Amino acid sequence: MEKSEAIVLRTIEFSETSLVVTLLTREFGKLGAMAKGARRPKGPFEGALDLLAVCRVVLIRKPGDTLDLLTEAKLERRFRVTELPGLTSAERMQRLYAAYYIAEMLRHWTDEGESHPELYQLTLDTLARIDGTAPLGPAVLVFELQALRMLGHAPGTDRCVACGGAVPQQGAQTFGLIAGGVLCDRCRRLHHETKVISADGFRQLKQLLTQDDGVPAVSPATYAELRVLLSRYIRNQLGYAPRLSPFLPSSVDT
Ligand SMILES: [Zn+2]
Repeated sequence: MEKSEAIVLRTIEFSETSLVVTLLTREFGKLGAMAKGARRPKGPFEGALDLLAVCRVVLIRKPGDTLDLLTEAKLERRFRVTELPGLTSAERMQRLYAAYYIAEMLRHWTDEGESHPELYQLTLDTLARIDGTAPLGPAVLVFELQALRMLGHAPGTDRCVACGGAVPQQGAQTFGLIAGGVLCDRCRRLHHETKVISADGFRQLKQLLTQDDGVPAVSPATYAELRVLLSRYIRNQLGYAPRLSPFLPSSVDT
């Protein structure tokens, strides 16, 4: 038996009474587990396995591709943005979709059996921000850039990603969407799918990549620029567009 704190990333109905859940755990990273009896009213898991809930779980780990067995889950925090006061229903939906997007990204970006305690904490913090009053768009940008950094996929900003040569660390830059970061004057002519980012956009991109905690203020113009850049960067990294990315806020005010 193993214990962990976990965030529910996905639930799939398996039988009349059971669920298969994908969890991001603090101790063991992402894993899939069978929760027998989870669909029974007043079953052993008592609402702890709702999507995006944070819970404490007890597991029997199974070797190889076999699903782990979930024997206990106690709810720590429910994701409740749909009930938050002071938001319009459109704002609630936007926050809910953003949280689904976070869950989708974690399912795609992480491998089972790799522990990422730092990423777990980032996810916990991000869900709390989304499930509250933090500016939504910037909170998602912080998550994406920090998670990419933690997983070793951050866009390159320090040197030219094609030749390794120096690039000026201020002013507007040419960003190679396939190359995966900034390009020097010589390389940018040789690359397709590039996007120029403004000096402010570049400064903020670097700030968001090194941000340790909290969500910095992002101007509307910079947000719009970075949102487009990052969505295209992620699409190129993954090889397809995440299902929920069209639902992310297109401006900083929504
Ligand atoms: Zn270069």
